[in-house]
Amino acid sequence: AQVQAEPELTDGFHLVIDALKLNGIETIYGVPGIPITDLGRMAQAEGIRVISFRHEQNAGNAAAIAGFLTKKPGVCLTVSAPGFLNGLTALANATTNCFPMILISGSSEREIVDLQQGDYEEMDQLAIAKPLCKAAFRVLHAEDIGIGVARAIRAAVSGRPGGVYLDLPAKLFSQVLDAAKGEASLVKVIDAAPEQIPAPSAVKRALDLLKSAKRPLIILGKGAAYAQADDDIRELVERSGIPYIPMSMAKGLLPDTHPLSAGAARSTVLKDSDVVLLLGARLNWLLSHGKGKQWGEPGSKKFIQVDIEPREMDSNVEIAAPLVGDIGSVVKVLLAGIDSSWPGVPSDWTSTINAKKEANISKMAAKLGKNASPMDFHGALGALKQVIKERPDAILVNEGANTLDLARGVIDMYQPRKRLDVGTWGVMGIGMGFAIAAAVETGKPVLAVEGDSAFGFSGMEVETICRYNLPVCIVIFNNNGIYRGTDVDPTGRDPGTTVFVPGSRYDKMMEAFGGVGVNVTTPDELKRAVDAAMDSGKPTLINAEIDPEAGSESGNIGSLNPQSVVKKK
Ligand code: ADP
Ligand code: MG
Repeated sequence: AQVQAEPELTDGFHLVIDALKLNGIETIYGVPGIPITDLGRMAQAEGIRVISFRHEQNAGNAAAIAGFLTKKPGVCLTVSAPGFLNGLTALANATTNCFPMILISGSSEREIVDLQQGDYEEMDQLAIAKPLCKAAFRVLHAEDIGIGVARAIRAAVSGRPGGVYLDLPAKLFSQVLDAAKGEASLVKVIDAAPEQIPAPSAVKRALDLLKSAKRPLIILGKGAAYAQADDDIRELVERSGIPYIPMSMAKGLLPDTHPLSAGAARSTVLKDSDVVLLLGARLNWLLSHGKGKQWGEPGSKKFIQVDIEPREMDSNVEIAAPLVGDIGSVVKVLLAGIDSSWPGVPSDWTSTINAKKEANISKMAAKLGKNASPMDFHGALGALKQVIKERPDAILVNEGANTLDLARGVIDMYQPRKRLDVGTWGVMGIGMGFAIAAAVETGKPVLAVEGDSAFGFSGMEVETICRYNLPVCIVIFNNNGIYRGTDVDPTGRDPGTTVFVPGSRYDKMMEAFGGVGVNVTTPDELKRAVDAAMDSGKPTLINAEIDPEAGSESGNIGSLNPQSVVKKK
């Protein structure tokens, strides 16, 4: 009798891995646990880089910024219920920031969840994720894994990028399929983020308006940084001669020291410009919704907005010339219109800006040079400004209140996508996740400049940084508290609500895991310690002692705090 060959088999685990690999996903950020522990192990065995974190929110933030840096969806893998919820915060943040990301969570059995019979970590995760992300899908059958992963990828990166949730119930992973059938079910996404080119009439409308401007301004946002159309964007600015300001994560798209940068004359150009070209920047709270005092006389301004999302237009004020398309394509067609018919920019506008710039830059320089102890923010930032000037390819991660607002203004960036920060929500907690993914995705040295409070939200990931031996140097601006370290409890019972343990030594945390810890008290010491860390590439944490009196409540956005009518005692 003839022996029949066993048919080769595959299963849900391997189909998920194969589907990700087929679509060029090389890294998974996550936290292992039931039911995805083996999925992580098998993915690693199959050559995917699996970076295991200590908390899902940090893994999610890592995936989100990986998406921003690479234009491929960053993948975060979590367990069910609480792990899923932890990752969901990062997914919502990614969606708000237009970063492509996929949160893959294991979940418990549908039958039991739907009848609410009390399963292990029972939760209707798909329903919870839906309102907080761009799209949410569940795969129940192994033969649908290929199409499910393909849909998730396309949803994340096409149009306005964002977060996608993929729900994979535990039972799916062990479902068995004939290997050949399994392979045939996989889908490689073709043209995941198609180019979108605006109609010629829309382009003409925008160019006509731009040519009519007496005081034009370009605002570069993180959508422009994401688009990776760096050379064309630079060409657009330089050939048109239009002054520009970068939003914080667009810094470095052109060097902050560029003659056309109006960053140091920001309030002047927002107030006095007449035509504003928004390139991948939204008129949200970070730009005062395009109206109010900051923007000068009502009706004095006309906006051209370039965005891939048509519904972004007119979200706060009228957009006179909407240009809906991807920034790469739109900038190309605009460049074609900046030809011999281009009138140039009136010189009284550029000279007004330059005078303002010079005055502000020299005012700032006076604050930066001091080597005083205790350090204030400007003293410490002066040292870090020099570090980035000398190492322009390093990636700067930045969060905090004063630490964020002041670093954004002080530290010049020279290359695109080198500044990663709190983004649209101004959220705390992105620090270590962003730093880890930046190092993993780019291989470049990372400098994370953190307020002591901001660091606390993701601080346990210093172990992760040491475990993967990543070239990350963390500088903690330690002023003993949230905003400042000076609050007292009026009743005398407890420490003030915004105050931490005085004299905390965060550098010891790093030493606990085999990294380098340094405590510094002067800008010179700080500069030396950062240089040593960046030269060695060793995981390093520098505790920079900042005067607890330095800084202000909520940094630059103190005005957002509601005020009580009851007088303080
Ligand atoms: P910033 O905070 O830097 O001002 P925002 O996040 O507010 O930036 O705005 C980014 C904008 O860029 C979003 O409205 C998003 O739709 C848009 N965007 C993202 N990627 C692209 C792209 N490739 N082409 C065009 N617009 C894009
Ligand atoms: Mg602080």
